[in-house]
Amino acid sequence: MKKTADIVIIGGGVAGCSCAYYLAKRGFRNIVLVEKKYITSGSTGRCAANFKEQWESPVKCEMGKYSIRQFKVLGEETGFGDLEVVQNGYMFTLYQPDQVAEFKRRQTMQNSIGVPTQYLEPYEVKQIIPQYNTAGLLGAILNPEDGHINPFKLTFAYEKGAKDRGVEFDTYTTVTGIRVEGGRVKAVITDRGTIETPVVINATEAETKWISRMVGLYHPVEPQKHEILITEPMDYLKLPMITSYDQKIYIHQMPHGGFAMGTLNEFQPMGIVNYGSSWNFLEEMCRRAVQMIPAFQNVRVIRQWAGHYGMTPDMNVILGPAPEVEGYILATGAAKSMMMSPAIGTLIAEILAGDTESAIPISKKDVGLSRFQNYFINPGGSSKKNMDAEDAVS
Ligand SMILES: Cc1cc2nc3c(=O)[nH]c(=O)nc-3n(C[C@H](O)[C@H](O)[C@H](O)COP(=O)(O)OP(=O)(O)OC[C@H]3O[C@@H](n4cnc5c(N)ncnc54)[C@H](O)[C@@H]3O)c2cc1C
Repeated sequence: MKKTADIVIIGGGVAGCSCAYYLAKRGFRNIVLVEKKYITSGSTGRCAANFKEQWESPVKCEMGKYSIRQFKVLGEETGFGDLEVVQNGYMFTLYQPDQVAEFKRRQTMQNSIGVPTQYLEPYEVKQIIPQYNTAGLLGAILNPEDGHINPFKLTFAYEKGAKDRGVEFDTYTTVTGIRVEGGRVKAVITDRGTIETPVVINATEAETKWISRMVGLYHPVEPQKHEILITEPMDYLKLPMITSYDQKIYIHQMPHGGFAMGTLNEFQPMGIVNYGSSWNFLEEMCRRAVQMIPAFQNVRVIRQWAGHYGMTPDMNVILGPAPEVEGYILATGAAKSMMMSPAIGTLIAEILAGDTESAIPISKKDVGLSRFQNYFINPGGSSKKNMDAEDAVS
């Protein structure tokens, strides 16, 4: 393990590996990535792996558009090979008049910046997914350009691209502290030794706040537990991903034929990390899935697992420096870092290079910490309290 580095990245998930790749591609050298377990062991290896460019804000749409363009070239660019990118679309099914109004408002904005979302009547949903139970359905929004990617292959592609450019990956190495002197980062302390460095990037999404606490700061990224299951494989139908906020469920078919379906765990409070699976989720998810698509009735579940979203107050990523500690950078948050990972790595490389222009037509302020100015004045008691929970990470 190196004793000194120009940049240390904490977290070997898709975000940390993306930062490693785009920084190295940009010409930064002497980079070390530190991961306490193995690459993809966090949320990345537990995600449903969908990507989309249809969002509620233009900033996220632009980040999504850029990321999809990168997904199509990254396999070749890194020399890793096929990343299993499929674009079968992403559909929100709508059951409430206010949802219809909101998604139509979003559609107008999305279409104006080149995201080709379409509004569908229930009979059109039935044409695309004949098995869908349209009782009570008012309509749907579909973007045919959204899709799915293999999150393991994507992360390993970033890893390969970074290693080929000299980045050192230290797995099974836990960061236990960050030394700050005179308001500047000086070193990252791990259970395998200390790395002297002026720059540390926190790319741990769900565990962000525990790393930030090492430099004496609180950052508003709270873990939220999500559970997911996968069914036995069936004929591959090339259906779009289906999400219903009303029924609190998403369903999509993996290229190997199994259907993945999940939701948040409503019983675990936000703010703690716990990978346990629950019987309650299994029962409830099966009930909701059969209600939505009755043909699931006799389909067997192969396995279930749990992971975490890192929730920020506005549900977007936090990218850039924490002004209180020079050299402390966040590359975290927003629960959808897998699908945003090309944008995350690219923006972090631009921020560290001091670029004023960006490959993505957004302002760095839109993703920086300063947008939470008011949040910091009153960060909320429960989040603070949960930082000290003994079972915080289990
Ligand atoms: C059930 C589920 C479904 C999801 N579906 C989707 C989806 O369809 N599309 C999508 O884009 N996103 C989805 N997500 C979210 C997505 O998985 C995450 O946003 C993304 O993987 C986060 O990547 P990351 O690299 O920031 O974090 P992680 O993958 O969690 O990586 C962070 C790493 O930091 C390491 N770490 C933490 N503390 C330390 C320390 N002290 N020292 C060293 N290492 C440390 C952890 O071990 C971990 O490997 C889903 C998540 C879940 C749980």
